[in-house]
Order: sequence, then C-alpha cells, then structure tokens
Amino acid sequence: MKDVLIIGGGPAGLSAAIYAARAGLDFAIIEQMAAGGQAATTQHIENYPGFAEGIGGVELAMAMQTQAENLGAPFLYEQVQKMELLGAEKKIITEGQTLTARSVVLAMGARPRPLGLQGEEELRGKGISYCATCDGFFYKNKEAAVIGGGDTALEDALYLARFCKQVTLIHRRNEFRAAGRLQEKVRKLENVKLLTPYRPVAFEQEDGYVSGLTIEHAKTGQTEHVCCEGIFIAAGTLPQTQLVNGQVALDEAGYIKTDAYKRTNVPGVFAAGDISTTPLRQVVTACADGAVAISGVEAFLIQQ
Ligand code: NAP
Repeated sequence: MKDVLIIGGGPAGLSAAIYAARAGLDFAIIEQMAAGGQAATTQHIENYPGFAEGIGGVELAMAMQTQAENLGAPFLYEQVQKMELLGAEKKIITEGQTLTARSVVLAMGARPRPLGLQGEEELRGKGISYCATCDGFFYKNKEAAVIGGGDTALEDALYLARFCKQVTLIHRRNEFRAAGRLQEKVRKLENVKLLTPYRPVAFEQEDGYVSGLTIEHAKTGQTEHVCCEGIFIAAGTLPQTQLVNGQVALDEAGYIKTDAYKRTNVPGVFAAGDISTTPLRQVVTACADGAVAISGVEAFLIQQ
C-alpha cells in the first residue's frame, strides 16, 4: 500500500509529485495521456512567475514533468476506471491493476464545456474544436470563429490571428472576463472582429463539415451568419469528477469542496487544482494547491 496516489498529471498533480518525492513518500502519479493537462494546450503563458518573456504551455509542462522525474517521481500512464475512496485503504482501479494507498490527491482537472448545440458532437474534428493550439493550424489562411469571453477565448483569438485570414470573436455579453491586457492585444489586431453581445444558436454545415455559424443578438434576437470553416469553443470548463461523484462532496458548480489545506470531506482524500473549489484557476494556483495537498497528506499520515 502506497502512502499516496496522485491522480492526474496537470500542474496540480505534477507539483504534488515534486513535493511528494522531496518528502520521501512512497507514491505514484497516474496520468491517462500526456502530462501537462490544460496548461499544455495553452500557446503562451505570461503569468507564471519566473519567466520574464513568458513560456510556452508545453514547454512549462515538460519542465515540470522532468523536474518530478529527476526527483524520482514514478509516473504510471494508465486510465483510471474506478476509485474507492471511502475506506482507510483507498483503491484506484486502472485497466491493468488495482493500486492501494493510505491517501489520494485528486488532480484530474477540468475539460472544455460544450455549448450543447445540435450537431456539436458530430462536427467535433470536422470544424469544431476546443483547442486552438492543437487544431488552429488546419485553418491557415481560412476564416475561424471563437466563442467565449474569458482568457481562453481571447488567447485563442490572438493565436489564430497569426495565420487565419479572419477571426471572429463572438461573446454573449459586451464585457469580457479576460484579463485587460489580453483584451488590449486582441483589439489591436486588424484581422480579429469582435461581435458582442451575440450568442451562437446553430452550426452550419456542408458535406459533414462546418461551413458557418448562426448567431443571435442577445438583446434584439436578430440572427446573423458568420462565415467560418473552424469554430473554436472556449465556453469555460467542467470539472472531471465522474469517478468520484457520490464519494466526495461537490459544490453547486460541481467542483470538489476543499478546505484551505485542500482536504475533502473524506479523510485521506485531497483535491488540488482546477477540479477543486478555488477562487482562481491558473497554473500558479494549481501548483500551489498540489504543494498544499502534499503537506496535508504528510500531516494525515503522521496522524494515522
Ligand atoms: P471562463 O473564464 O469560465 O470563460 C468562459 C466564457 O465562455 C465566458 O466569457 C462565458 O460567458 C462564456 N460562455 C459560457 N457558456 C457559454 C455559452 N453556453 N454560450 C456562449 N458563451 C458561453 O473560461 P476560460 O476562459 O476557459 O478560463 C477558465 C479558467 O482558466 C479561468 O480561471 C481563467 O482565468 C483561466 N485561464 C487562465 C489563462 C492564463 O492566465 N494564461 C489562460 C486560460 C485560462 P460569460 O462571461 O457571459 O459568463
């Protein structure tokens, strides 16, 4: 039985792994794909301290992973299928094995929130994307639309504007949530058009591929057509709590409730980063959460 199992290899999980390794804990970090989480889908990160010119999301994630590996963190690349968290012996069941631990740090992060419009699932990969840095290049010299008004939407617009002919940023309110500096940068770009307050109402398609978007004015209800071959949806995120729902307490928005020590309501179960309740969801806060969670794990193990 391990001291702790860390589930998820985004910034929160990687930071937890660095702290667990340095604390000399017997642990493993389990990641289903590649380490880095949502940070690795961000083109450029300007607000993670220590990098005067900013740093690429993939570069930052890889540096964190290498740092954890250099400290001896054991990585398991397996998909977790079930978790049994309520007993003293926590069970993490993957495709190939059942792992047990005295404590668990849940750091599965969040995933992009779909708009829920008709055809969204079928057109995924055929014009609809949730990751501009992953798929943006397919729309080189083409027209693209971005939906949302947060940091992700404005960063996506900035990134796409580098090689798309035209980018239309559609947001349902006149005020953006995104950082002021991002808004300033976007407003300066000649090939980015801001359309507010408009909400998307229908995806237009031709031969199974996106050919445009119908939007509706949020106040007048008047509809308009936006010409685009790519639609990048940046409408926020949903916490990845499917495997723990019913075991740990969630808040109204579905995030795992934690206290200042990142403890959940279940003894020995901690949650860190975007999956947990926090006033700010950034790489820097996810990393801090991972560190705090491991200090909580250490205190819990001593108590035991
Ligand atoms: P977000 O801040 O939650 O913004 C989501 C946006 O989508 C909002 O503008 C929202 O509109 C809009 N929206 C939601 N549902 C919609 C719908 N059904 N139809 C149309 N629009 C819809 O999400 P995010 O931009 O992905 O950011 C998530 C977190 O990550 C934030 O804490 C953010 O600061 C952080 N982040 C940080 C960085 C960075 O610091 N470099 C980069 C990316 C993300 P309303 O505004 O009207 O609600």
